[in-house]
Amino acid sequence: MDDSAWGYHSKKEEHQLDGLVWCYCDKKEERQEKETILYKGHSLEVLIDYATCLECSKEYILNHQIHINESRIRELKISIDKRIEDNK
Ligand SMILES: [Zn+2]
Repeated sequence: MDDSAWGYHSKKEEHQLDGLVWCYCDKKEERQEKETILYKGHSLEVLIDYATCLECSKEYILNHQIHINESRIRELKISIDKRIEDNK
C-alpha cells in the first residue's frame, strides 16, 4: 500500500519513524487526538490514538494503536470512495 497517497503525516509518526526513541519512564498515558488527513482532495478529521510520557513528554504510537488508527483511516477512505462514487 502506498502510504503517501493518504497524505497522513504527524509529529507522532515522525517519532515512530525515528524508531527507537522509546523512553523508560513509568508514566505513560494513552491519549487520543484529532488529526486532519487528506484523501483524494478531501480533508478528513480522524481520531488518532497515541501514547505520551508524562515525565519526558515523548510521544509514541503503540503497536496496538497503529492497528486502531489504520482501521479508522481505512473506514474514512472507504466512506469517501463511496461518496465520490455516489456523486458520479
Ligand atoms: Zn519518558
